[in-house]
Amino acid sequence: MAEDFRPGIFDGATVWATLTPDQRVEIGAPALESVVAFKVLCFTGFDDVALASERAVEASIDAAHAEMEACVDAHVYQEQMYDQDGKPLVPSVVGMFCRRCGCSQYGACDGGCDWAEPYLCTACAAQPAEVA
Ligand SMILES: [Zn+2]
Ligand SMILES: [Zn+2]
Repeated sequence: MAEDFRPGIFDGATVWATLTPDQRVEIGAPALESVVAFKVLCFTGFDDVALASERAVEASIDAAHAEMEACVDAHVYQEQMYDQDGKPLVPSVVGMFCRRCGCSQYGACDGGCDWAEPYLCTACAAQPAEVA
């Protein structure tokens, strides 16, 4: 079992508020294109016909992600993405997550779990904490 970690949260909205309008366009435009590309990849309207554009759409996801990452690296400070010990923060979009196993509303433990307390799931609460 992983050791308990102190949940550090990355709040995208707070960081977004620090960006200039130009920087927002630089990150926001590829973000929109990436979401649209994912939607196109999930499009099942013509199940028996392979979309000729599929390769281009896949490539556009990679390109959009690379652009967004370059913008984040250029405009978001390291101390906004990592805690004081240099550990990466968890984006707030996931909501609550377990401080021991990392499960969340998007990926529960095998057999299911709930919250025993904030940032500790019932599956982990039922087991003794690992002694350091
Ligand atoms: Zn857990
Ligand atoms: Zn869990």
